Amino acid sequence: MKKVVKFGGSSLANAEQFIKAGNIIRADEDRKFVVPSAPGKRYDKDTKVTDMLYACYELAEKDHNFTSQIAQIEERYQEIIAGLELELDLTLEIDTIIDNFKRKAGADYAASRGEYLNGIIMAAYLGYEFVDPAEAIRFNEAGIFDAELTQKLLSKRLEGVERAVIPGFYGAMGDGTVKTFSRGGSDITGSIVAKAIQADVYENWTDVSGFLIADPRIIENPKGIDIITYGELRELSYMGATVLHEDAIFPVRKVGIPINIRNTNKPDDEGTWIVGNTCQKAKYTITGIAGKKGFASINIEKDMMNSEVGFGRRVLQVFEEYNISFEHIPSGIDTLSVMVHQTEFVNKEQNILSGINKAVNPDHVDIQSDLALIAVVGRCMKSQRGTAGRIFAALAHANINVRMIDQGSSEQNIIIGVANEDFEAAIQAIYAIFVDTRI
Ligand code: ASP
Repeated sequence: MKKVVKFGGSSLANAEQFIKAGNIIRADEDRKFVVPSAPGKRYDKDTKVTDMLYACYELAEKDHNFTSQIAQIEERYQEIIAGLELELDLTLEIDTIIDNFKRKAGADYAASRGEYLNGIIMAAYLGYEFVDPAEAIRFNEAGIFDAELTQKLLSKRLEGVERAVIPGFYGAMGDGTVKTFSRGGSDITGSIVAKAIQADVYENWTDVSGFLIADPRIIENPKGIDIITYGELRELSYMGATVLHEDAIFPVRKVGIPINIRNTNKPDDEGTWIVGNTCQKAKYTITGIAGKKGFASINIEKDMMNSEVGFGRRVLQVFEEYNISFEHIPSGIDTLSVMVHQTEFVNKEQNILSGINKAVNPDHVDIQSDLALIAVVGRCMKSQRGTAGRIFAALAHANINVRMIDQGSSEQNIIIGVANEDFEAAIQAIYAIFVDTRI
């Protein structure tokens, strides 16, 4: 068996956390490939090393002095090295980083050093080989991750390697320029490494015991999710559920490697399993609820719209011209609505409205703003009668006006639009009807 284990920033924030991670790795000899993040926050008001690096590089870029900032970053690593009682000297590495900052190697390079240095420490601590992802994780000239080339290079690079530490979050373009994924991207690295070595499991160690059915800021003590499919997770993370980077499932999903989200501070908890398919019934009809505020809906009405071939395409083309992606397009017989992120839309609003008028000559267009979307997700929904009925009854009971309904064709999600101010109450009502009553 081969396992890839990724540790997030809070799991490696100081020596004490490093020791917990080390104990977890040593407790199972299948944990052969380790992907570390940069040191995260040690306490609530602390700053992540990645943020310190971005701030430090900003000074370097303006030719300002950054001596004390880089010294503080070095201090974070020294504290870990001392706490682990390692004989490791990072002076040369830090000097190289300072030189590269001075010659303006880029913000991505700067941020990536957080994982790079943590990787060096982790490799020394475990006695594993250090593999720099800049060698094998590739981005194209446009800065887009090149999955195919990476798979080729990385599987070759790791061939015959028994145990290795591969820092998360970054890779490089063909010319060697370092490029990072978006924030939280070490999750993606873990998934890429799992695919490259054909791992049996990708364990993602963080500071919570897996996914919760709903956001704990909205529901007090929500229940956890034991098992969830990639498809369900995709829907939930797209709609705002955090814990795992939303792009992290793609590499492993293709090859069916399960992801196990675990808690570094409670290693005995089973966490959440993310799998391709399962015959395991979820405990409740729904697997999870997530949502986001801040949408606007552009509602277009025109008599006989349904017989006008190309109507939808012409409307969407206007949005495309202004580079606005749409979230949902619920439609009626003579109505079509396009839901978009309000902040992206607001500055282009008048151009888009006149574009729609020109493109389809509608009878009426109106805009609803300040809407929230809530996704109720569950693989078990399609085999249960009355799920939608229960959701809407619960919302009606809570006096919440439903502004939009969209059931995904996969029948594993129902998306509901409500006013921003009803968002929390709507989630509470849905949670109560499915989870608290346990039907
Ligand atoms: N260190 C990076 C961040 O703070 C990447 C990661 O932790 O996954 O976003």
